[in-house]
Amino acid sequence: MKYLYGPVASRRLGFSLGVSLTPYKTCDFDCLYCQLGQTTNKTKERLAYVSIDDIFDELKTWFQNNTDQAKQLNFITLSGCGEPTLHTELGTLILRIKEHFSVKVALITNSSYLNHPSVRNAIISADLIVPSLDAATQEIFEKVDRPVPGIRIEEVIDGLISLRKEFKGKLWLEVMLVKGINGDIGHVRRLQKVIEKINPDKIQLNSPVRSTAEPNILPVGKNKLVKIKEILGEKCEVL
Ligand code: SF4
Repeated sequence: MKYLYGPVASRRLGFSLGVSLTPYKTCDFDCLYCQLGQTTNKTKERLAYVSIDDIFDELKTWFQNNTDQAKQLNFITLSGCGEPTLHTELGTLILRIKEHFSVKVALITNSSYLNHPSVRNAIISADLIVPSLDAATQEIFEKVDRPVPGIRIEEVIDGLISLRKEFKGKLWLEVMLVKGINGDIGHVRRLQKVIEKINPDKIQLNSPVRSTAEPNILPVGKNKLVKIKEILGEKCEVL
């Protein structure tokens, strides 16, 4: 299979079949902690990077050949090895999946395009959106996520706030904290104020434990994560 991976069992999503909508590491961010390594195609250009028909054909084949696993699936997850909202036909794919398969659709996104009404409209039919937000200030945003120049954290935050108002499904905000970059308590308090405005259903706190794009990326210690969880409130869970 070229576009599908898994299914994998994850604590967050249960049993999930992944779909990749972009070529390897096509992303408008180059996060310090990215488990896929450094971004090799750093772009904010939105294109039909891969054929939606080809993805759909792979899905049909997978469902035909894996009837037992298909019954256990919790989600078809749109994510993969780049930023899925860079694909211009993401909305069409979500609708086709919803029409043909009785499995929930989850979208994992870095949130960069959520301030575009057309992108929010395209993803509105998903069942679960897991957007990320790692910074409350432009300075920290640029350090941790290393976005394409021109992407402003205020606009990312505005997009998240708008999405919450328009989207009726579940919204689980992921926050990845890197020691010495965005994990200090002062910054977390600023994040907490922003997250309060976004009002997600859940806040999922994470810290890098596997291999990362850059060497010497350290996780925030467990005790500190517990303290940060208290600051972020009862919706917060540590992954
Ligand atoms: S947004 Fe996701 S795919 Fe892109 S660099 Fe960051 S972690 Fe990697």
